[in-house]
Amino acid sequence: FLKLSEGISKTKEQITKRIDGLLASHSSMDEDFWEEFEEILIMADVGMEAASRLMDNLKERARKADTDNPEDFKDILRDELEEIFKIGPRIQAVNPPEVVMMVGVNGVGKTTTIAKLAHRAQMQGKKVLIAAGDTFRAAAIDQLAVWAKRLDCGFFSKDEGSDPAAVAYEAMEKCVAEGYDLLLLDTAGRLHTKVNLMEELKKIRRVLGKKHEGAPHRSLLVIDATTGQNALSQTKLFHEAVGVDEIVLTKLDGTAKGGVVVAVSLQYQVPITYVGLGEKMEDLRPFNGKDFAKALLA
Ligand code: GDP
Repeated sequence: FLKLSEGISKTKEQITKRIDGLLASHSSMDEDFWEEFEEILIMADVGMEAASRLMDNLKERARKADTDNPEDFKDILRDELEEIFKIGPRIQAVNPPEVVMMVGVNGVGKTTTIAKLAHRAQMQGKKVLIAAGDTFRAAAIDQLAVWAKRLDCGFFSKDEGSDPAAVAYEAMEKCVAEGYDLLLLDTAGRLHTKVNLMEELKKIRRVLGKKHEGAPHRSLLVIDATTGQNALSQTKLFHEAVGVDEIVLTKLDGTAKGGVVVAVSLQYQVPITYVGLGEKMEDLRPFNGKDFAKALLA
């Protein structure tokens, strides 16, 4: 399987090479040095706001360490990245079945991620039910059914056009009746009816909470690393409308712009718990900020 350091090779190539070039061409961390570094961040899709905050923090670290020697820069950057990624997922006791609500825009890799998460849970010996809560698209229901069959896990769906909250409710009933450990609930991702979608997601949350204490225990937002700043605006949208507990960042293998990892963590304080490094069900890695910082700057 792909290791994290291999999965982020494109990002690494882009960022590390340019940082090395920056360090080689400067004898001190002067104005010009910081300006060039900011350019590298923007190229890597860290985004203006996060880049400027990151720069402030790095300058402060350099000042505290009383250095303007570029040789110290990578250590400072590594320490800062580790600090940014310190936010971890909320740990809570869950009265089974555990209910995970998957949200995100169409095309980001939500279906694939659900399959990957189901596979991981199965490997841990859990009995998993996937429920097709995107009743807006028949194709979404079919695609999930295919995955469920391949994974040999439980599957629940209703007809296209059914009330997604009814899917959630009945899937929950099935979970309890048949002793499932984990419910992975897909939801719609049609952004062209944003307001309706957010209302729909809120209703699903309410229904789940009434049916089972603490449910949904986690809302996972799936975002696509290759979409850079769109991934950031989607985080803002879903986080403000329905609340997001954790983020899964997909397609990190396909982009040189993995800087979005930094932007998401710095701006929204939502932990990234998994990253997608490929299309197969094994290609999901728990995200560890310390390892990411190390791999990036190795
Ligand atoms: P959905 O519309 O959000 O459910 O998206 P899908 O799960 O159907 O994924 C859209 C496309 O992205 C498919 O071709 C997937 O194989 C691909 N995909 C999903 N996750 C990853 C990933 O981590 N890496 C790569 N390279 N491709 C991915």
